[in-house]
Amino acid sequence: MLVVKKFGGTSVANKERIYNVAERCIEEYKKGNDVVVVLSAMGKYTDELIAMAKDINENPPKREMDMLFTIGEQMSVSLMAMAMNKLGVPAVSLNAFQVAMHTTSTYSNARIKRIDSDRIRSELEQRKIVIVTGFQGINKFDDYTTLGRGGSDTTAVALAAALHADKCEIYTDVDGVYTADPRKVKNARKLDVVTYDEMLEFATLGAGVLHNRSVELAKKYGVQLVVRSSLNTNEGTIVKEDAKMEKMIVSGVAADSDAARVAVIGLKDEPGVAFKLFNALAQKNINIDMILQSVGRAGTKDITFTCSDADADEAAKIISEAMKFEDINVNKEVSKVSIVGAGMQTNAGVAAKMFEALYDENINIRMISTSEIRVTVLIDEKNTERAMNAIHDKFNLGEE
Ligand code: ASP
Ligand code: MG
Repeated sequence: MLVVKKFGGTSVANKERIYNVAERCIEEYKKGNDVVVVLSAMGKYTDELIAMAKDINENPPKREMDMLFTIGEQMSVSLMAMAMNKLGVPAVSLNAFQVAMHTTSTYSNARIKRIDSDRIRSELEQRKIVIVTGFQGINKFDDYTTLGRGGSDTTAVALAAALHADKCEIYTDVDGVYTADPRKVKNARKLDVVTYDEMLEFATLGAGVLHNRSVELAKKYGVQLVVRSSLNTNEGTIVKEDAKMEKMIVSGVAADSDAARVAVIGLKDEPGVAFKLFNALAQKNINIDMILQSVGRAGTKDITFTCSDADADEAAKIISEAMKFEDINVNKEVSKVSIVGAGMQTNAGVAAKMFEALYDENINIRMISTSEIRVTVLIDEKNTERAMNAIHDKFNLGEE
C-alpha cells in the first residue's frame, strides 16, 4: 500500500513534534507500506519570512517572495529526514526541483500542472520514506513558485493522485471537520464523513481545515481524504464522494465575520446599471459575494452587495467615481452564517428552519443567498455566536 501523509506547521513546530511525526510515519513504514510525507514550514515560519521581506521592501517582487518561501518547507523536510535517520530508518527529503513538481508560471498563486513520479518511485523502491516539500513548485522558467497560503494540502492531494496512492491523510491540530467551530459552539461534534462538495463549501467559508483547491483536486481525481489530528490517534473525518451513511440533511454551520455590506441607494432604474457597477469593481479585482437588487420605484433602484472587510472602502470609492446615485453606505459590522449539507438538495423547508432559529433569537436577517447545498444569511456581527448556536441546536447537530 502507498500512503501520502501531510503534516501542517503546528505538527512540526519543534523538535518533539518533529520526532512525533517521524515516529508516526515509521509506524506506517514498518507495516510494509510505502510512505510519502508532505510537510509545511515549521510553526508560523512562513509568516516570519513575510515579516522579514516586508522589513526590507514593503512591496517585494513576487518571484523573490517565492524564492524566500521555499526555504521554510526545505527546512522542515530536511530536519524530518534527519530525525528518521536518527531513528534508524532510511529517509530522503526532496524539494520541488528534485521531484519535479511542475506548475503554471504565476508566482505566489501557481497551479500544479504535472508531477514527475520517477524520482519518488525509485526512492520508494529502495525502501526509503520520501519527504516532499509542500506548497512549492517550479515553472517553465526554472523558477520556484508557490501555490498560495495553505497550499501544502494541495501538494499532498496532487501527489496522491499522481502516485495513485491508496490513502491520503491530512494531519492537523484539530480532530477533523466539525459541525461548527468548537470554540464557538460548545456541543459541536466531529463528523465521521463529509462529501467533497460539503467540504468545498466549508473550505470556502473559511473553516480553515483544508485548502479549498486541495478539495477541488481530490474531487476531480477521486482521492479519498482523511483529516485527522497529529497529536492523538482519533479516527478523523473522511472526505469522499458519497456520504449517505451519515443521514444528515445539514452537516454543519459555518461563520465568516470578514464580510462587509455596501448599499448603493437611488441608482437609475435602467439597463446596464448593474453591469457598470460590478464591471468597475471587477476591473479593480474586488471580489463580490452576495448581491441584492431592490424592485425599481419612481425610476430608481438600490443595489446591495457584500465583499471582504478589507475591500469595502475601496469598493465604495470606485463606485462613487464610476456612477451617479443618491447615497452609499458601508457596514463592516456584519457576518455571514451558513448551513451546509448535501441532503438539502432533496429536502424542502431547510432554509425556513434556519430562519426560524434566527427568529426565535430575534436576530434580523439582512441578506440571504443559497446554493444547492448551502444557505447563507448576513446578520449583525455581534449576533454571530448566538446565531450559530441557535441554528446548531435547531438542527440537533450535536447529536449523532
Ligand atoms: N507554509 C505555507 C503557509 O503557511 C504552506 C502551508 O502551510 O500549507 O501558507
Ligand atoms: Mg493549512
